[in-house]
Amino acid sequence: MKKIQMVDLKGQYSRIKETLDPAIQEIIENTAFINGPKVHEFQKNLEQYLGVKHVIPCANGTDALQIAMMGLGLKPGDEVITADFTFAATVEVIALLQLTPVLVDVNQDDFNINIEAIEKAITPKTKAIVPVHLFGQCANMEAIMEIAKSHNLYVIEDNAQAIGANYTYSNGNKVKAGTIGHVGATSFFPSKNLGCYGDGGAIFTNDDELAHTIRGIVNHGMYERYHHDVVGVNSRLDSIQAAVLDAKLPHLDAYNKARQTAAIKYNEALKGIDQIITPKMSNGCISICDNCDCHVFHQYTLRVIGVDRDALAGHLNALGIPCGIYYPIPLHNQKAYADDRYDEADFTVTNKLTREVISLPMHTELDDEQIEYITSTIIKFING
Ligand SMILES: *Cc1c(COP(=O)(O)O)cnc(C)c1O
Repeated sequence: MKKIQMVDLKGQYSRIKETLDPAIQEIIENTAFINGPKVHEFQKNLEQYLGVKHVIPCANGTDALQIAMMGLGLKPGDEVITADFTFAATVEVIALLQLTPVLVDVNQDDFNINIEAIEKAITPKTKAIVPVHLFGQCANMEAIMEIAKSHNLYVIEDNAQAIGANYTYSNGNKVKAGTIGHVGATSFFPSKNLGCYGDGGAIFTNDDELAHTIRGIVNHGMYERYHHDVVGVNSRLDSIQAAVLDAKLPHLDAYNKARQTAAIKYNEALKGIDQIITPKMSNGCISICDNCDCHVFHQYTLRVIGVDRDALAGHLNALGIPCGIYYPIPLHNQKAYADDRYDEADFTVTNKLTREVISLPMHTELDDEQIEYITSTIIKFING
């Protein structure tokens, strides 16, 4: 059996090496390392893939979120509602801009931000909602956009984990994750579904004016060379990363399909075990299905009930099966983001999930033998 990895980037590379190596070599030869033609080419191709008017590449996903908030003109003291159960980058940039993060609970079935909790957290100071499309499927965007409309709030989608996922409206219309809110942000960190070979990120919007503002912000607040109209940042996607991304983009749907196929096999092997709850697909998918496009499985995350989760993780690691705990501590309990305003009773789901979740290896190169070994090892542990 091939050695099991949490993410297998080497195997994926070997299948695109023939197109990728010359593309990287070309950047080195033509020396347009920053803002070269390849960055623009990738930007146009991603706009087309996503069906969005503007993609603004930047240095990483954390910057993408920060720049999106800067572009919207959010001001110190503005309250921004986001999920308690996510990677810290989401709340970090809110705090960094001296906005007030308002963490709220999530759903136990799809791990995404809870609609009632959002409504409860809205105050006259609320200016934005940041849904995180956690583990590869969209939050309930239809409800979120409705709340935002009625309270005049901005919606910034953290799409770092769901690039390529479709969101299906109740009328059947489909759109790509990250293109629904006023602005979307994504990451091209190597292990993300569309990952480069270093850091990278992008901001998406259909709003021409916001796109213009953001294009200046990523470039030191310049709209005209050496005229600095606003305080900006230096956040660029370099040409070599753009070459990697442009070579991978045509394969993104196939990559996501490979993840879904692995997820279906995991689900099949683990069904009917009382202590295991396999991931629920929500928007647009009643159950996991062959032509499902709502969940792109950035992570395949189980909940284990009545099982010592940490002992299971230790057992898997000891037998050569890497696994991840995303995320072990609710953000409202992290030192940097703790606040007297929070009431533990408002976080019953995140508090529970941080004890129950375990993510299994998930990437484009998993084979049947590996999946069989992983799932049978889990089942044997549970059955003692
Ligand atoms: C990865 C990730 C980010 C940050 O992306 P970087 O490119 O690492 O800065 C933000 N939010 C979520 C949910 C992520 O998974």
